[in-house]
Amino acid sequence: MEEKSTNKIAVFSIDVEEWYHLEYFKKSDTDKSKSVMDGLHTFIKIINKHSIKASFFIVGELIQTLKKTIIKLDSEGHDIGLHSYFHKRPVVQNINEFIKDTEDSLSEMKFILPNNSFGYRSPCFAIDRQRLDEVIKLGIQYDASKITQKEHPLYVNLDLHGFEKQERDIYKKDSFKAFEVSTIKFLGVNIPIAGGGYLRIIPWPLYIWLLKKYLKKSNFINFFIHPFELSNTNFDLPDNTPALTKFRYNYNRNKVEKRLNKIIKLLKENGYSFKTFSQI
Ligand SMILES: [Zn+2]
Repeated sequence: MEEKSTNKIAVFSIDVEEWYHLEYFKKSDTDKSKSVMDGLHTFIKIINKHSIKASFFIVGELIQTLKKTIIKLDSEGHDIGLHSYFHKRPVVQNINEFIKDTEDSLSEMKFILPNNSFGYRSPCFAIDRQRLDEVIKLGIQYDASKITQKEHPLYVNLDLHGFEKQERDIYKKDSFKAFEVSTIKFLGVNIPIAGGGYLRIIPWPLYIWLLKKYLKKSNFINFFIHPFELSNTNFDLPDNTPALTKFRYNYNRNKVEKRLNKIIKLLKENGYSFKTFSQI
């Protein structure tokens, strides 16, 4: 029999960005009229079907277009957060550029939801401590940008000295919280067990095996996904896109909806309750 648990928590989040915000298309001439936001609506459909609340980190330049959706999500008890203004990695911006980028996202979001406080997730998990401290100064409630995966060329290992570890992947300093993406060590490498790309690229039986192994040890799991991974919109990627990038972008996208449904069921069967970051 499954162990009965009252305290197991799962957080589902989505980084609401367009396909052209992805780092590997940054140097291309992208046609911004093509959108993958149907993937956002698929995500909303999935979480509604299972009656769970989720956290949405939204790129600033999409806020106006998504205004109605954001207001509706907020009114339904989901968590709204920031994901930078143009999806530029914080560590490649100087400190003043970064502060302005974050302030711009924050003020645009406050214009729509004046009474809210917001969370933050850095594009590509690429924020350092100096920039995190600026996020804290701006009155952001929590950060969800930490990942421990030194092999990934874009990620930054965020230093959280002075934070108190509350639970696996949950850290606290005064009233500010920081959340780390769930990873599991396999063959010497930290694999983000709860990340979109990984649930597409790792062979599914292995993925499920790793996930079950993870769930035996942890009371907290922190998932993230992107609209393009759930989108049914197909269009030609820019001409100069390398084959490996095309593969990483497209591989098993058509399976993500089904897989997310299975993962949610599995988590529920194992006694996890779904919360937003704000609720923790
Ligand atoms: Zn992103």
